[in-house]
Amino acid sequence: MKDNDNLTIERPTFVTHLECAMEGDHYPADQVHNLSKAGKPLLVRYDLAGVKKALTKQALAERPADLWRYRELLPVRKCQDIVSLGEVTTPLIRLPKLSAKLGGGEIIVKDEGRLPTGSFKARGLVMAVSMGKALGIKHMAMPTNGNAGAALAAYATSCGIKTTIFCPADTPEVNVSEIELQGATVYRVNGYIDDCGKIVGEGKAKVGWFDTSTLKEPYRIEGKKTMGLELAEQLGWDVPDVIFYPTGGGTGLIGMWKAFDELEKIGFIGSKRPRMVAVQASGCAPMVRAFEAGTEHAARWEDAHTIASGIRVPQAIGDFLILRAVRESKGFAIAVDDDKISAALNEVAREEGLLLCPEGAATYAAYKASLADGRVNKNDRVMLFNCASGLKYPLPPVTRTLDRHKPIDFSQF
Ligand SMILES: *Cc1c(COP(=O)(O)O)cnc(C)c1O
Repeated sequence: MKDNDNLTIERPTFVTHLECAMEGDHYPADQVHNLSKAGKPLLVRYDLAGVKKALTKQALAERPADLWRYRELLPVRKCQDIVSLGEVTTPLIRLPKLSAKLGGGEIIVKDEGRLPTGSFKARGLVMAVSMGKALGIKHMAMPTNGNAGAALAAYATSCGIKTTIFCPADTPEVNVSEIELQGATVYRVNGYIDDCGKIVGEGKAKVGWFDTSTLKEPYRIEGKKTMGLELAEQLGWDVPDVIFYPTGGGTGLIGMWKAFDELEKIGFIGSKRPRMVAVQASGCAPMVRAFEAGTEHAARWEDAHTIASGIRVPQAIGDFLILRAVRESKGFAIAVDDDKISAALNEVAREEGLLLCPEGAATYAAYKASLADGRVNKNDRVMLFNCASGLKYPLPPVTRTLDRHKPIDFSQF
């Protein structure tokens, strides 16, 4: 096996068509698409019986450890279209001290901060850009809270696609800088991510750019789906009891739910599913409100605010898909306050040595709350998603100093 076998060896592909996630009508594969006629997300469909014949667990085990090992379940047809910056398999990190302290089951963190551009947005965007390259797209535009824009910029630049990116004015400084530095043109906009999305939508007709917004193009879900494929393989083709997912647009939650379905259909896992928990911040919790109200769609959340900028999404076009997955899995949606998010970030870093991003910390805070109120029981093996590197966010200052010219009191150490 060579390190780049996944990028250089052609494999059979099985995409048959795309399908409206709401109406179920079909659209041809290998053409440029945004939303369906009903204005809803399109899902990629595969000949899963064909995949079942073509792919074995053994064959997979012999491939390099990156997301391209799952080619038979991905939309990119030819190696020449793969745009890669090293999409490593992300590790599962156990938190045994915190499990013991809380008296709960095993806590596993899937640490997505190891991916290119430091967040799991790389999974979605590597797929969207590879498909953009395959379909001849020359200019991609996107609204972003930061990480998605960084991943789009990096991948698009690496294959010569132009990118124009719009983010809310208070997007973390590091995100704005990395987007620009990786070759995009980025604008701060005085509004929320959905306000930025409107600009992208308007420009579609006027500038002719491709709208790469969350779920408005079909392939980001396929990229995010690899989280589900990967975690099942890492657990020896099993799934955890509960998954806590920090939910903004919901691509990852929807993608993983799709992954488990496809894995069952190709015979790699059984019918057991994790309970899917959508974690949001109390200052922006449209899915939690809709889940509790029992509605199919989620109304826009006004005056959204939270330190977890990646999940500050007032309205999600895939709302019904998020809510469907949460309900079908017998999971739930839960909101956590910013002060609980900060406390969780501190606790995991200080006690387990693992630095989470605020969105990842929100999943730990949500787990603690769910264990305490009995929505999760103490035997449940849970998986938390740390979706970005904690190093991308402002960190608390340290002011302690030591004067080397004065006598040092070594008893203080
Ligand atoms: C985008 C993002 C999320 C939300 O992911 P979705 O799949 O869009 O819901 C969570 N955390 C971080 C750090 C993000 O960048």
